[in-house]
Amino acid sequence: MALLEVRNLQVNYGPIQAVKGIDLDVEKGTLVALLGANGAGKTTTLRAITGMVKAYGSVHLGETEILGQRGYKTARMGVNMSPEGRLIFAGLTVEENLKAGAYCIKSAKQYQKNMDRVQELFPILRERRRQQAGTLSGGEQQMLAIGRALMADPEILLLDEPSLGLAPLIIQDIFKTLQAIRSEGTTILMVEQNALATLKIADYGYVLELGKISMHGPASQLVRDERLIEAYLGNK
Ligand code: ATP
Repeated sequence: MALLEVRNLQVNYGPIQAVKGIDLDVEKGTLVALLGANGAGKTTTLRAITGMVKAYGSVHLGETEILGQRGYKTARMGVNMSPEGRLIFAGLTVEENLKAGAYCIKSAKQYQKNMDRVQELFPILRERRRQQAGTLSGGEQQMLAIGRALMADPEILLLDEPSLGLAPLIIQDIFKTLQAIRSEGTTILMVEQNALATLKIADYGYVLELGKISMHGPASQLVRDERLIEAYLGNK
C-alpha cells in the first residue's frame, strides 16, 4: 500500500473542471514528480491533497482518509507550496521561521533533532540564522521554505515548483539536497515544470495534461519516452 493514495480526484472552479478524476500513488521513501505544462492542474492537485480547495474523490495518507479533513493530518505533510514569494515570514529571522515550522513538535529533543537536520542539509541557514528572512536571496528563501516544512518532521513533503525563478546552479544545489532528504527516508511529491532535471532525481513520474494523467511510469523510463521528449524535454 502506498503512503499517499489519490483516487478519482476532481476539482472544479465554477464551471471549469481543473482536475478531472486523477489517480496517483506515492510509495514510502520515494521521490515522485508531477509534471505538466502551465495550467495542467498541478498546483490545484497539491492544493486538493492538502485541503486548500474543495475536492471530490479520495486521498489516503496511510490508512487515513484526509480529503475533507482540513488541517487534520495535513499539518504533518510538510506542505511547502511555493506560490511566488514562497510564503516565508519576511520580517522574522531565519531561525524564527524554522521555529514556526515546528509548531506541532512538542518534545524539545525532537525539535533540536529537526533543527540540526535542517541546518546540516542547508548549512547556509545555520550561517544566516539571525538574518531577516526577507533579505535572503531567492535560492536561500526556497531553502528556508523547504527547511521550515522539514521542521514539522513530515511523513511526506509536498513541493510546488522548488526551482521557480532560480538560477541553474542553485537549482542543482537544491535538487541535490532533495535527493539527500529522500535518501534519509522522507517521501517527496514534487510539482515541477523543469521536467528533465526533475526526472533525473525522481523515482517515478506522472504527467498531467488538461487535468488528466496522460502518462506515468518509472522516471528512468519517462526520460526516454518519445512522446514526453517531444512535449517537454526536446530542447533541454
Ligand atoms: P502552473 O504551472 O501555471 O501553475 P498548474 O499545472 O499548476 O499550472 P493550476 O494552477 O492547477 O495549473 O491551474 C489549473 C487550471 O485551473 C487553470 O486553467 C487555471 O486557470 C485554473 N485555476 C486555477 N486556480 C483557479 C481559481 N482559483 N479559480 C479559477 N480557476 C482557477
